[in-house]
Amino acid sequence: MAASFIDKARITVRAGNGGNGVVSFHREKYVAAGGPDGGDGGRGGSIILVVDDNLSTLMDFRYKRKYVAPNGADGQGGRKFGKDGTDLTIKVPRGTLVRDAETGEIIQDMSGSEPFVLCKGGRGGWGNMHFATPTRQVPRFAKAGLPGESHDVVLELKLLADVGLVGFPNVGKSTLLSVVSKAQPKIANYHFTTLYPNLGVVWVDDGVSFVMADIPGIIEGASEGAGLGHDFLRHVDRCRLLVHVVDVSGSEGRDPVADFDAINAELKQYSPALAERPQIVAANKVDILEDRTQLERLRTHVEAQGYTLCEISAAAHQGTRELVKKIAGMLSVLPPVTVYEPEYVKRPPVVDVSAPLDIHRADDGTWIVEGPWLQRLMGNVNFADYESRMWFDKTLRGSGLFQRLEALGIQDGDTVSMYDLEFEYQR
Ligand code: GDP
Ligand code: MG
Repeated sequence: MAASFIDKARITVRAGNGGNGVVSFHREKYVAAGGPDGGDGGRGGSIILVVDDNLSTLMDFRYKRKYVAPNGADGQGGRKFGKDGTDLTIKVPRGTLVRDAETGEIIQDMSGSEPFVLCKGGRGGWGNMHFATPTRQVPRFAKAGLPGESHDVVLELKLLADVGLVGFPNVGKSTLLSVVSKAQPKIANYHFTTLYPNLGVVWVDDGVSFVMADIPGIIEGASEGAGLGHDFLRHVDRCRLLVHVVDVSGSEGRDPVADFDAINAELKQYSPALAERPQIVAANKVDILEDRTQLERLRTHVEAQGYTLCEISAAAHQGTRELVKKIAGMLSVLPPVTVYEPEYVKRPPVVDVSAPLDIHRADDGTWIVEGPWLQRLMGNVNFADYESRMWFDKTLRGSGLFQRLEALGIQDGDTVSMYDLEFEYQR
């Protein structure tokens, strides 16, 4: 069954690199040697996620899988800063979970309205204007910009609704939603009409309202991935309450008790926690009910399990007001919609230190150390934090850098420069 509804997508995002600082000297007519005036590189653009309530699927991510924010521009002479890269904003539907693609850990639950910075742009490098000191009047070096963060993530939509409608196809879920809210889901007398979840706001009274979600019909075997249902069940994961719609009219020759049990068995297979969720049973299509025996059998069956049954006719607007009141009453004492806590913690990356670093000396004697892994490493170290500094130091030692500097004749008190970092060498 090829559903066109997309509620899971893997994407790669990369923030922009910082622009490079430049080496430049002030030039003016009749002035022999100006001071250093190379400006700093601009910051790379960040990747920012925002919620857009006009979206209800992750369809946009089906074909576009890679998102790259622009780099910062390089600095220029005359103390001119490079322009910052523009942040790249990615819109997602409310309720999108952002997970680390490798571990599956939750990075962020996009349920609230705060923008989320998924990848930070790299800092721009310093131009040589920063490196003039009384003893170094002619700094002939500048810092490269740092790389932007990048991440492979999986987006997963888990709708944010108070109430989820569950039940077999054609029992009248979409009709019910359209009657109690302003939502206009597709209604038709054939199975699987609903390929997209529909959300509707149901107004009770005096500013009391709740959000109801109509998800596509669950079919038997859905929790084993047999049909549509499996993918869609995750949308009711967060719901505080389920309204279980059952067709009691016998118009399709269905047995309401068997239907009720089959759906609950599907829920349980998918998630035992979901099967425990409070339910109200909506016995639908009573307008065309000819024989009440099936309805009464269902009532006895569900009440024995502690559920409440409401008789309704969604199409004839019968009993729907009472159902809405009942739902609102139960919601008022249920805990709020689940918001998932982030699980993902940024770990120090595994650094392959085998590639040799490039060491050269600037005119003023500064030892300049560069190399791709060092640059990446430094982009990940928070130098304000002791633990991080210790880890950085250990990684450098492990790379054999200091032995190489010694072999090249470095002396105590010499200046070592690594990108943003400059320090005095001490044995
Ligand atoms: P869903 O698949 O559960 O979303 O079911 P729909 O809302 O699309 O309805 C399936 C069919 O049942 C449609 O033809 C509806 O008009 C019809 N229907 C829904 N509710 C009622 C009802 O209360 N009474 C009657 N007679 N028909 C209904
Ligand atoms: Mg429907």
